[in-house]
Amino acid sequence: MYTGEGEDVFKEAKERSLTDYLEAALGVTAYKSGSQVRMDACPNPACGHSAAGSGKVRLKGDRTWHCYSCNQFGSIIDAAMWLTPGCGTPLLAAKDIVYGNTPPAVSPQEKQRQIEADQRKVEWQVWVNQRIYEATRQKFEPAVWEYLLKTRGLNPEVVTQGWKRGIFGTMPPNREQATLWLKSVVGDTELHYAGLWKEDSPSPWIAGRPLVQFVDSQQYAEFRVLFKPTNSKTKKSLAVGRPGVPYFWKGEDPAKCLVTEACLEMCAARSLGYTGSIIGMAGTGSWRTSWFKGLAAQGVQTFELAFNNDHRVDEDGEIKNPGQQNQLLLARELQALGLHCSDASPKEVGDINDVLLRRKGIQ
Ligand SMILES: [Zn+2]
Repeated sequence: MYTGEGEDVFKEAKERSLTDYLEAALGVTAYKSGSQVRMDACPNPACGHSAAGSGKVRLKGDRTWHCYSCNQFGSIIDAAMWLTPGCGTPLLAAKDIVYGNTPPAVSPQEKQRQIEADQRKVEWQVWVNQRIYEATRQKFEPAVWEYLLKTRGLNPEVVTQGWKRGIFGTMPPNREQATLWLKSVVGDTELHYAGLWKEDSPSPWIAGRPLVQFVDSQQYAEFRVLFKPTNSKTKKSLAVGRPGVPYFWKGEDPAKCLVTEACLEMCAARSLGYTGSIIGMAGTGSWRTSWFKGLAAQGVQTFELAFNNDHRVDEDGEIKNPGQQNQLLLARELQALGLHCSDASPKEVGDINDVLLRRKGIQ
């Protein structure tokens, strides 16, 4: 525990606005994405600036940050330790926040270079998504079919339709086989350009993730594992390409549109018999109001919001329900735009897929 000067300077540093600090140090502007505050630059210099709209860094309550790209996170002190040369200890970092003047950590030239390098990488990722999409028109892996039907409870017609509509694709489930498949379909040089295969790794990042979910025109795709090993840090899905477009299922009823939090929930709603169009948010649950304005212009009269009902109690006995909190925020945004919406979220705990699993007696 620190005493004297140290304690005061820590307290003062932690009271500073993290957003203001990062904006000044990184030369970027934070922005709202759905209910979250995001930035396109990371305090970790090795991760740095990315293309506009990547939103890779999330700021929480102006107090903590988390980068979805390099997985670093922390407080304003941790950010200063990354950003400021000579701030190797928390105390030096705190002093720099309080007494320093937060000079830009990277030169404008270096920032521009990093952004352009990231844009090239994203363009290669879209190209990779398109090659994989074309190759997945040939075959549907039985292991993925079984997973979607038995573990997720989706109807076979919905999975077949999802594949025909270009929402689903599959790769060999085995990592070694997937590596060979990716080398022939995409090419190893191209996978390296796209940042999907690091020099020292035996296989590309996306190998061993046989379920691929594409948004329209493959600008963005998520590569999923079927079964996540317990206690593993492996992410369930890896996002590749340009975020910002949702999954979309065009329905028979043009007047209504269900809004769900993910691709598989969209397909679960379809399996439950929903006949309107359905949005599945891509990535980490963020929306853009332009989607809703666009759909309203095409005749959607009601948006039925079906966010997760996460109802849980934390250690302090406080009830937390981020899904429902976000749904409320979206409802307010839609009302402010003059768009009609209603609540279609699960009445029991869980998401739309849990509703489907209960209905089918799987869960
Ligand atoms: Zn990062």
